[in-house]
This record gives sequence, C-alpha cells and structure tokens, in this order.
Amino acid sequence: MPSLSGQWRSLADAADRDALAARAAVEFPQLAAALQAPTERRRVLRLMAAAMTLAGLGGCDDGEPGGVLIPPVRPAPATVTRSDSYYATASVLSGYATGVLVRHDVGRPIKVEGNPTHPASLGATDAIAQAEILGFYDPDRQAPIALDGVPQDWQTLQSALAAQREQLVRTHGKGLRVLTGTVTSPTIARQIGELRQRYPEMRWHRWEPVSRDAARAGALLAYGKPVEIVPDLGTADVILAIDSDLLESAPGHVRFARDVASRRNPTRTAQMNRIYAVEPTPTLVGVAADHRFIAGPRALQDATVALAEAVLTGATPSGGPPWLGPVAADLQAHKGRAFIHIGPQQPAELHALVHAANEALGGRGSTYRLIEPVEADPVDQAASLRELATDIDEGQVETLIVIDSNPVFAAPATLGLAEAVRRVPFSLAVTMEPNETSRVTRWALPQLHPYEDWSDTRAFDGTVTIQQPQAQPLFEGISAHRLLGMLLEFDAVGSLEQVQQTWRDTKADWHEALSSGLIAGTVANVSDAKLRPESARLVPPALPEQQTTLLFRPDPHLWDGRFANNAWLQELPRPLTKLTWDNPLLISPEIGRRLQVGNGDHVLVNIGKAELELPVWIMPGQARDCVVGLFGFGRNVVGRVGEGAGYNLYQLTGYAGEPLLRKGKGGVRLASTEHHDPLLATNADFARHGNLAHFQQEPRFLADDEATPSLYRYPPPGPAAWGMSIDLNSCIGCNACVVACMAENNIPVVGRDEVLREREMHWLRIDRYYEGSADDPNVVFQPVLCMHCEQAPCEVVCPVGATVHDREGLNVMVYNRCIGTRFCSNNCPYKVRRFNFYAFSRNEHRPAVARNPEVTVRGRGVMEKCTFCLQRIAAARITADIENRPVGGNEVRTACQAACPTQAFTFGNMAQSEADVLARKQSPLSYALLSDQNTRPRVTYEARIVNPNPALGARQA
Ligand code: SF4
Ligand code: SF4
Repeated sequence: MPSLSGQWRSLADAADRDALAARAAVEFPQLAAALQAPTERRRVLRLMAAAMTLAGLGGCDDGEPGGVLIPPVRPAPATVTRSDSYYATASVLSGYATGVLVRHDVGRPIKVEGNPTHPASLGATDAIAQAEILGFYDPDRQAPIALDGVPQDWQTLQSALAAQREQLVRTHGKGLRVLTGTVTSPTIARQIGELRQRYPEMRWHRWEPVSRDAARAGALLAYGKPVEIVPDLGTADVILAIDSDLLESAPGHVRFARDVASRRNPTRTAQMNRIYAVEPTPTLVGVAADHRFIAGPRALQDATVALAEAVLTGATPSGGPPWLGPVAADLQAHKGRAFIHIGPQQPAELHALVHAANEALGGRGSTYRLIEPVEADPVDQAASLRELATDIDEGQVETLIVIDSNPVFAAPATLGLAEAVRRVPFSLAVTMEPNETSRVTRWALPQLHPYEDWSDTRAFDGTVTIQQPQAQPLFEGISAHRLLGMLLEFDAVGSLEQVQQTWRDTKADWHEALSSGLIAGTVANVSDAKLRPESARLVPPALPEQQTTLLFRPDPHLWDGRFANNAWLQELPRPLTKLTWDNPLLISPEIGRRLQVGNGDHVLVNIGKAELELPVWIMPGQARDCVVGLFGFGRNVVGRVGEGAGYNLYQLTGYAGEPLLRKGKGGVRLASTEHHDPLLATNADFARHGNLAHFQQEPRFLADDEATPSLYRYPPPGPAAWGMSIDLNSCIGCNACVVACMAENNIPVVGRDEVLREREMHWLRIDRYYEGSADDPNVVFQPVLCMHCEQAPCEVVCPVGATVHDREGLNVMVYNRCIGTRFCSNNCPYKVRRFNFYAFSRNEHRPAVARNPEVTVRGRGVMEKCTFCLQRIAAARITADIENRPVGGNEVRTACQAACPTQAFTFGNMAQSEADVLARKQSPLSYALLSDQNTRPRVTYEARIVNPNPALGARQA
C-alpha cells in the first residue's frame, strides 16, 4: 500500500488509484470527491492529469522549502563526483617546450590548456599541443616488447641489455651509437654525459627530419660559437620575415604570435607594427604581413643579400626588385626597433648575414637577445646522421639505440638507412607507437607517452619545465630515462628519480616547479658573443638557374610525420589549402598553366633516382619557379588512422638538381574544405579590411551602419547576456582554436570520404578568403562559429522546437528533440550547423574515456553546432549561485578563446559592465557578418587593418 506522505517511488506506485485518492483527499478535496464518484475512463485520466499539474504548481507556490539540506558525508556507491583539476607539464615539439596545463575530470586527463605563467605559452597553445590528448589515448600505442617481431618479457630484455653492457664495458663503448632527436632535457643530457664517461668510445647522434641546421650553422658563422636568438616581437615596430616560420613552428612560435598580434589592432595599440614578408610559398606570417613579396629560391637569396648590404652600408640598393629600397629604408629608419627573421630552410650564410644586419639595426637587447644554446650539445644534424649511416655501412656499429626517432621513414632516401639498420647486430628502437624504424630494428620497445612519465624539457628561452605524468601508463612501456639508465646498470632507477637527481643539488623548489610548470631562474644566460666582422661579407653559393626548384616543408599539423596517427590533426583543414588527409604537391598557378593540370591531377616528379606520381594542388601566391612537397604523410607503419594517408615525400629528398615535372595520368579528388559552407550574400565583403590611413581619417569606415530601429519587441534580458567579438587583426589562421573546440566538445572526425561529401563536423571553422589574382593574392582568415543570432533563422523553421533561444542569448540545441529534418541548417546563412549523418562518434578511433564527460556525445541523425561552450558557462553559473552573485563579465573563457595564441576571441557576459567583450563591441571596427540579414548575431568581428608603407603605395598582397 503506498504511503500518504506525498512521495512515490515509481510510476506504478504513483498511478495507484487508492493512493492517489488518499493523497487527493489531503491536498485537493474536490478532486478526491470526483475520484470517488463513478466516472468514465477519459474523465478519470483528465482529472489525473489536472491533479498532477496542480501538484506541480502547488510545489511552486510553496516558496522556499523549509529546513537545511544536508549532503551525504559519503556519496552513495557508484556516485562519481566532479572534480576538475589542472596539472602542469609541457608539449614538446622537436625538443622545444611549450608549457601547458592538463585538465583532469574525475581523475583522467581531458583537455590541454596553455600555462599562463610559461613564457612560451602565456596561456595559449598550438593545434598540435591541443591534439596531444588524443595521442595519449591512442589505442595503437599498445605494443609488446618484441625481438625480431616476437613478443618478449621484461626479464628477457634485461638479460639482453646486461649482455650488451658487458660487451660495451669491455670495448669502452666502441661500436655503441645512440640516436635521438634534438635534446633540451637536462636529465637526458646528464644521462648521456654519464654514458659517455662510462663508454668513452660511444657516439651520440642527433637528427630531426625538419632541420634547423642552417640556423645553427648561421649563428656559428656569425658569432664563432653556438648561440640562439630570442626575438622580442612586442617591441619591434618593423619586422621583416624572410621565408620565416616565426608564427607557425619556430621554437617559441605561440609566444611570438601573441607578441606580434599585440601590435596589430589600431584600437588597442598606440602604434601598429609593420610586417614585411618575402617568401617562395605562403606562410602564416606572410598572410599577416602588410606587404608580402613573392620570391622564388634564387630571387629570395639575391634580395636578402642586397637588403643586408643596404642595411649594413646604409646605401640605397641598386637594382633588385622595386620594394627593396623602401623596405631597407624603413628598417633603417627604425633602428633599435626593427628585427629581421629568416627561416631555417635558408642557407647558413644568409643566416649569418641576417645576424649582421640585425646587429647593424641595433636591435640586440631590444627586439631580440642572444642566449647560450638551449639544446644540449648542438651539432650539424644532417652530418651526424650521414656519419651514422657511413659507420653502419663500414661495419663499425655493433649496438644502435634509437630513442623516439624514425630515420627509416624520414631520412633522405639516398642514405639507404632501412637496409643499413637491418645489418646492425644489436639494434633497439624505443618509439611511442610501432613505426618504420622499430619494424626493422631487432628490438622494438614501446615508449611511455609524456603524459605517463616524468621528464624535463626547456623552452625557446631556456626555461625548464618538469613534465609530470598525468595518469598511470595506459599501456606497457619504457621511458627514455629508464632505457638510458639500463645501458649503465641493471637496476636503473625510474624516471622520477632520474629527474630529481638532476635537480637535487640546485636551488629549484620541486613543489613550486610542479605546481607552476616551470623552474624559476632557468632562463638561458644572455650570450656576450661578438659578431665576427667577416659574417657581414658572407654570400651563399649561387643557386643554379633552373626552371623549377623542389622545396620541402613540414606539414603544419602532422609535422615530420610523428603525428600521422592523430585523427584530429589529419582532418584539420590546413590553414591555406584547407586540405585534409592528404599532401598533394603544391604548385604555383604558373606551373599549373604550363603543365595544364588542376587540383587533384597527377604529375610525375623525377629527381635523381627517385620518381613519384602524386596529385597537385595549385597554391595561389606561390613563386612561379618552385613546387613544394609537404612531409608528414605516406606512413606505412603508424597505426590505423595514419597508414596510407597521403604520400611519402621523403622519397624525393637527398637529391640535388632540378626536378622534372610531367603531367601524369588521371587524378584523385582531394578532400579540401575550402568550398564547403559558402556564405551567400550580395555584399560579399565577409572579412572586412582596410588601410590604417583610411582608418585614421574615418575610424568607422568598416563598421556597420547604425542599427535601424526595430518594430519588434524582444524578450526581456536574462541574468546574463553572452557575446563574443573576434578580432580579424589578430587571427593568423593557426587552427589551435578548432582543435580546442574538438577536444572540449567531443566533436568527432568523419574520415576522408565523408569530408569529400562535405560532412566534416567542426563547430568552428577558419574561412580563408583570397582577393586579387591567383598569382599574387591577398589572404584574410575569418573564424566562423554559430553566431547565436537574436533573430535566429534556424529557430523559426525547426518543426519540433529543437533549436531554441534561452534568456541569456544562447541559441540552444535540444538534442533529444532533434528529428533530423535539417531545415535549420538550410536556413542558417552562416552554415555553421553540423549534421550527424552517421554515428560518427561511435566509429571514432578514440575510447570513451578520452571524451569530456561534461558534454553530450551526439548520436546519429542529430544536428549540432557551437554552444559557446555551455558547460563552461554552466560551471560558472553554479559557482556564482553558490557565492550568491551574478556571473562576472570575464569569468567564462570558451575553449577556442583560451587556446588562441593571439587572443583573437573576446567572450563574456555583456550584462556586466566590466566585460571586455563590451569594449570590443564598441570598437569602431566592429561589424556583424551578413549584417543585412538582420539576424542580430551575438558574435561580431573587428575588421582587419593593415599598415602599408606609403613609399610602396597600396598594399602589395
Ligand atoms: Fe567551440 Fe566553444 Fe568556441 Fe563555440 S565557443 S566554437 S563551442 S570552443
Ligand atoms: Fe589561430 Fe583560431 Fe586564434 Fe585564429 S582565432 S589565431 S586560427 S587560434
């Protein structure tokens, strides 16, 4: 018999007529009487429904419940309490660190954020750091310890290493070779030092597929000893970037992007900087530049020599391209406030010349500083690898230890390393996931992920971060520290002890170092190296006159190929081509015309003994005499995601001479998103931009007209009003925000075929617009996400009310209501809605534990789109409720906002006067995308302003 207390334990319980009658007798006497009377069924049901409704309303009317609620001291079994926390570590790319904080939710790593106190991060990250969380959960990392492909146990490995140790002690390490990438870790450096002491005949080889040898050698030529350069771009009024990787991959690039962007918006800075870029193929700094000059390899070399000469002598350049004189004059007019950066692909002599020019411009100590090398024992890495290959060929290598490197895949084809490594009697590779090198070494050891182990690493300025593990190892593995220790002794201590040993005798405060993510006072010493006078006279060997030069660059997302099994990075549209899952040869429009090929058509490339047939992509703004191959694709042994995607361009490396290009047969469809989600409007000026001079005369020349008074009445404002402003002056198109949004919001990847069907799921995309001719276009990036329109066209066409407006201005998706008509997407002028054609998340290559538990995983047939990171808003609301105050104006940071290196996004609660976003929306540059649609979006933009040199006339690119 149910109780009469007003509580019920199940629907069946509540439906019991007697119980209901008894309850009604207490609460609603008339209803009880009616229930006692004999009635027909429909009337009973009607009355029951009314009773339920009244009971609910009665509850509302009762005011606050009396008494004090007391939570259980011990939660009920199986209750999972939310407890997010952050642990500092670092994201390391080719040896150099960017400090990050990893967010844990219910005890597992969920999301990467930048570390605000770390000099290389300042709170932001790049796309690769954001995607590292997916790499951590990658099931393809799971691999056994293996000898000749046969799984082995730990004891067998220890015995084998013990036998090697005995032999090495006898021979003083003769025949021992250790191969690593660039090392900045003080602990690895210390351990290798100890190895060298024990085995004086051993050799340590260092090699990275994406070489910085020219930068190293250039510094050596200029200063006579190894030094590194640390730009301070916030102080530079004029920046010249020569084939530069400053904003995309140079050590410190996340920081540099912040510094450059801090001087780009004339409403936020007293003086805009001016950027010139000279380059053979478009880069991010080239897109950000006020003047971009296209120069093929030979022209670029000549121009750099002439420019350096002009800066060094103060003379006006004679000859050369017409921009040379004005650029040299501008640099000279800003002595002490100018800086020249040259990319690592340019020869060492040009680096030395640029060092000399920078010294002449007086920027040392203001726009840049020279420091002692951050990397341990720098060497010429190409020579180091060649030496290893030669020694193997000559039978001098008995023991080869490869640590987290993949030379069999990425070394120049001419070295023939795959065959060479097979001939080494004892070869061992420790790698994060099975790869081409561990496939041919005798021993293959799985390596612990950086989130599973202790280590230390240094940033571009030398700052040390202790990398602390974020979780227990997901899979069996060994760390580099342990392995190096085991080359010395049987009972080698683990990584924690190794790292602590390095820092034990220093003043470093261990706890402070772990909690802050850096060790104070570890910035590299400023170098007192003096410029060698002869460096100002260095000229690189003249490049041969040739119709076509083959250049190589790392893929912006897969880098040298080490991230090829990361689906987020594979499917992330490349900043300029918007290509996913592929790396066609980038050719200039001119070469496309000459060969009569278009995007996706095959060409045959011959260079030296190598021949490769691959598709092409016509890259607007690329020099007419060069083609560019991107590394990172074409992996054979990497895991289920990356295997077979794209082409291995390393096959073409190591050969000198001119490549022969011929039109091939047929072609392929390339999965580029550049034509997806087009905006349609008559005033097709989506990404607005203009000149500083025009802005100074008429600041509002790009802003929206005053809003026309509306006859409609809008709902009263709620307790908060969420809004966003995106600064097109800042956005460099780096894609960090896109991956951050994927990680935060459980956005699935769909695979190459579905991208070809325009079904990619990114909630945030970076539109890239070209203007002008394909040979020399202007480029503008524009991040586009759900605009959260106050007059949302999607809401009025949804037949089931699945997309609705809330009182805080959010355009909300109710997934459970969505029946998949897609009318909303049809009616959205911004094309930001994404439809789950299949259960994409179910087919994904990531385990459920890798998802953000705060966000729903959407099923098949459901529409989804940006929520302004509603879960973050909800968390702030709860905190504010507990503290009995409104949510602050700047309290919520969306995932995209937090990740952005240039702080392009400003988000907040516009109901609070301190909200930064209010100020941004007052900017004279503020405008709404497709404002003529009268959708009243909560997302607005600040138009882009460029600062061209009046001596060069209108903006060149
Ligand atoms: Fe994605 Fe949140 Fe940014 Fe929207 S606000 S695009 S959901 S990260
Ligand atoms: Fe990079 Fe996105 Fe910021 Fe643009 S808005 S700079 S693409 S993170």
